[in-house]
Amino acid sequence: MVEDLNFNRIVSQQFDRAAKFLKVHPALLSEIKACNNLCYFQFPVRFADDHYEIFEGWRAEHSQHSKPVKGGTRFSEMVSADEIMALAALMTYKCAVVDVPFGGAKGGVRFNPKKYTPTQVERITRRYTAELIKKGFIGPGEDVPGPDVGTGEREMAWMADTYDAFHPGDIDNLACCTGKPVSQGGIAGRREATGHGVQYGIREAFQYGEDLKKLGLTRGLEGKAVAIQGFGNVGYYSAFYLSQEDGCRIVAILEWDGCVMNPAGLDIPKLDEFRKETGSIRNFPGGATVASDAFWDIECDILIPAALENQINLDNCQRIRTKVLAEAANGPTTPAASDALHNRGVMIIPDIFLNAGGVTVSYFEWGKNLSHMRFGSLQKHLEEFRNQKLVSAIERMVGKEMPEAEKRIFTRGPEELDLVNSGLEETMIRAYRAIREMHLSRAPEESMRVAAFMIAIEKVATTYEQLGIFP
Ligand code: NAD
Repeated sequence: MVEDLNFNRIVSQQFDRAAKFLKVHPALLSEIKACNNLCYFQFPVRFADDHYEIFEGWRAEHSQHSKPVKGGTRFSEMVSADEIMALAALMTYKCAVVDVPFGGAKGGVRFNPKKYTPTQVERITRRYTAELIKKGFIGPGEDVPGPDVGTGEREMAWMADTYDAFHPGDIDNLACCTGKPVSQGGIAGRREATGHGVQYGIREAFQYGEDLKKLGLTRGLEGKAVAIQGFGNVGYYSAFYLSQEDGCRIVAILEWDGCVMNPAGLDIPKLDEFRKETGSIRNFPGGATVASDAFWDIECDILIPAALENQINLDNCQRIRTKVLAEAANGPTTPAASDALHNRGVMIIPDIFLNAGGVTVSYFEWGKNLSHMRFGSLQKHLEEFRNQKLVSAIERMVGKEMPEAEKRIFTRGPEELDLVNSGLEETMIRAYRAIREMHLSRAPEESMRVAAFMIAIEKVATTYEQLGIFP
């Protein structure tokens, strides 16, 4: 069977499958599914006096049912209109699933940033941003880009600075994009947010004994074997938090140039250091370097694709031996592979829920930029003062001093990072419970992907109905 790997059609299929379970007017379904705006442009960048290159850029705004629209910026040789539209649609559904009041968007430039110097990448980023400004595809109340594959804090700082240069004196300029460095209007915890959300989402899924029993698993994450494809932003932080905070064994990491394994668990901070020093995970002394293809045969409890779309497909899904597929990347599993795994009893924790930590914390960053206040700045001292009083009162009542270490935990007021992480954890737990409830009550035969899409479609449809567009 030849699989249709067109990402945009795949997302449409996922939508249609969930829509069948809902009583939403077909015209409204079509309206929700359609990508509202797609901007394509080519722009020249001068690298030296006689050296110009022409780049292709896109920005797709999938749905303005809630504004601004929001979505990452991808720099990769594989970027295409279809990919950007698919990712923009996923953003709409993702935001709805976690109740972040944004519509979906995505942008990208087709080039491999690894082949360009930082100065050249800066020129490309600034020129791309200027195009978005000219075309009205960026702005704090309209369209707010963030990072994605091939971009990070550095690129977001350049975007925000370019936007600011075009809008002098506008006090809300910093809210034009998210994922910025903390020193440039970013928020503590955004860099780690997607991986942290992956950890919180998986941790919640491992709370339900009856679900886990069906998979032959026990409750809790301690000792669970995890294999991860992709050791970039999302893959690294997922691996880091699952191993350091929940006691998971990261038994294998697959990168584009190799795979390292260790059944006892890889030391993730050391692997990261090694990769920074050598440029690759290959030959890491804390594990065995094996052929990349062997990754798909590894037996594990949780498989986390954290690289790109369509990585799990009909070519490799029969080999996969996991009990849980936790989709940290966007669109990592083709519909046929998803069905095959679901039919074999694999639990699928879908992308539009599991990787929503990034946009959730981006929402906090956007709110911080617009309020011009650092989270925690108002209440931190007051809470410390009150907690100190409470601890002193308890000590007086029981006639004993609380141990210093515990006292520090109880009396400490929240920093921005504490509030961000707590808001993120609460968001992931609440969303998982809603998806699980939808799955069990309305589509128990389907995978949880269908339930997540059902929630997203119902929420977006309700917004349209409340706007009076579809009575
Ligand atoms: P990244 O560029 O930081 O990391 C991707 C990693 O995957 C890189 O290290 C790359 O070398 C590796 N990779 C690429 N192709 C591979 C292959 N065939 N096999 C193994 N490894 C491969 O990107 P990221 O930000 O971590 O994004 C990863 C995925 O998560 C993407 O699907 C992205 O859309 C999604 N996502 C990212 C965020 C975010 O906040 N960054 C938020 C939500 C979803």
